[in-house]
Amino acid sequence: MTINQLKIYNSLTGKKEHFQPITPPFVGLYVCGPTVYNEVHLGNVRTFITFDVVYRYLIRLGFKVRYVRNITDVGHLVDDADAGEDKIEKRARLEKIEPMEIVQKYTNSFHVVTQLFNLKNPDIEPSATGHIIEQIEMVEQIIKNGYAYEVNGSVYFDVKKYAEKYNYGELSGRKIDELLEQTRDELEGGEEKHFFADFAIWKKASENTIMKWSSPWGKGVPGWHLECSVMSTKYLGKSFDIHGGGMDLKFPHHECEIAQSVGSGNEHPVKYWMHGNMLTVNGTKMSKSLGNSFLPVELITGTHPLLEKGYSPMIVRFFFLQATYRSTVDFSNEALKAAEKGYARLMSAIQLLEELPTSNTSTVTIPKLIDNCFESMNDDFNTPVTIAHLFDGVKIINNIKNGSETITIEDLQLLKSHYYSFVFEILGLKNEENTSLSSHKNEMDGLMNLIINIRQNAKTEKNWATADLIRDELKKLSITIQDTKDGAIWNYEK
Ligand code: AMP
Ligand code: ZN
Repeated sequence: MTINQLKIYNSLTGKKEHFQPITPPFVGLYVCGPTVYNEVHLGNVRTFITFDVVYRYLIRLGFKVRYVRNITDVGHLVDDADAGEDKIEKRARLEKIEPMEIVQKYTNSFHVVTQLFNLKNPDIEPSATGHIIEQIEMVEQIIKNGYAYEVNGSVYFDVKKYAEKYNYGELSGRKIDELLEQTRDELEGGEEKHFFADFAIWKKASENTIMKWSSPWGKGVPGWHLECSVMSTKYLGKSFDIHGGGMDLKFPHHECEIAQSVGSGNEHPVKYWMHGNMLTVNGTKMSKSLGNSFLPVELITGTHPLLEKGYSPMIVRFFFLQATYRSTVDFSNEALKAAEKGYARLMSAIQLLEELPTSNTSTVTIPKLIDNCFESMNDDFNTPVTIAHLFDGVKIINNIKNGSETITIEDLQLLKSHYYSFVFEILGLKNEENTSLSSHKNEMDGLMNLIINIRQNAKTEKNWATADLIRDELKKLSITIQDTKDGAIWNYEK
């Protein structure tokens, strides 16, 4: 398996491209992290799972990855552009605590969520407040290069000037004329800007703002887009491999990141831009401000009004991975129930791997199955097709179990390591659902043998009513009994 078979859909070019790292075997991966002013919702979680799988797969391919995922703890304003209060400052006022307490509180709870969903920790998790000096330096550099100007203690990026030489809109595909239509009525501080599309890279702070820093332009805060330009290039280099985030960040956040980096004299900062699509509820983007967001805790406990019951984090992870990261996923009870079943089927097959009989010959072809999984992951991290291949393997496993196929000990080893690698390491799933069974496996085996014997005796005595009753009652508990030539075998499938 050669590493450059990986293809990534690059949002910048709109094409799937062969992945060629700038300095192999090293790969720099930057993902926009959460703004820690409230609990993350499941939409946020989806995006972080997407890039967790990207990170895991790059590692599996042998790359030396440095994964940076930031914490936004200042500069993100309420309207996601240049208007309104800082989200964290506002929340601090509402909760009547320090802004930095808000930051700590929601960073902590974000970390609990990342553990719940089995997200690998990034190698660096930098925060905007920890990089104020670097941000001021970048603003100074952009002013020096003539792409920003100061007005009344705030500094704005000069989009018109930039667009004379560079392609503003190259990532989002937005044209400045169209932007004018969209933003004409929404501008606050518009009187300070030379041009409607200019954006703040430093914003003057009001008297009563708590979080603010001294700068050459007076007390203020950095613009939201600036932190990602600064922190990505500080830790990954002026030009790095992959930048990810949700689709909603393409504009203005990522478009402005490019402009800032280029405007400060660097090269184009990112080789491959990747954008995860949105989690929706009845077709509408899940978002805190729209009031349709699910918190992880509501999902696990089943306390959200739209949910019929609770689901474990691994079922949700599996559910998300059943779609490609570039398509939207709609949250519904039916879809979650289906995912629950599929996940349980996969996990029971993996458990079966521990007890499969081996033979002198294999009637199954394991290397092909493995190749298929790599092929689909190499195709822009296509997790649904990979899962489909894993289910082809589930059929094989069940056939070996019931004796209709055979496998050698070597092939079984290969099959096991393939499942452990793909299911646990790459897709990042954990076997949590069947712990009730697996932790009592010996007792369950003993109990089931007893029941199977009772049923066998009933059958020998031609007591069909009892034999059928046992089978039907077990079925209600999701336990199936199958009669084979070597006796009855049982299987638990939730
Ligand atoms: P925020 O904390 O709002 O900056 O968002 C953190 C990450 O979650 C960003 O990458 C967003 O693009 C992403 N995100 C926000 N809402 C959704 C959603 N409904 N579905 C998927 N990703 C989302
Ligand atoms: Zn960002």
